[in-house]
Amino acid sequence: MKVTVDRSKCEGYAKCVGVTPKVFKLDEKFISVVVDAKGDSDQKILLAARVCPTKAIVLEEEDSGQRIFPQS
Ligand code: SF4
Repeated sequence: MKVTVDRSKCEGYAKCVGVTPKVFKLDEKFISVVVDAKGDSDQKILLAARVCPTKAIVLEEEDSGQRIFPQS
């Protein structure tokens, strides 16, 4: 699964870090960055994306590029 953070949407709430601390961390600007997209199960990463208040975390299928979350 491809995991990216839309930096224009992230507001540094760090909820993603709380759910999956091996996958996300806050950088020096308090914006979330992906440190290891395989640092937790896809299910847990989906949960992290769901709890993000600004829907800044984008999940896509590795091969097809198909959007998993958020659904628009
Ligand atoms: S939960 Fe969302 S807004 Fe908060 S740090 Fe993570 S990506 Fe950014």
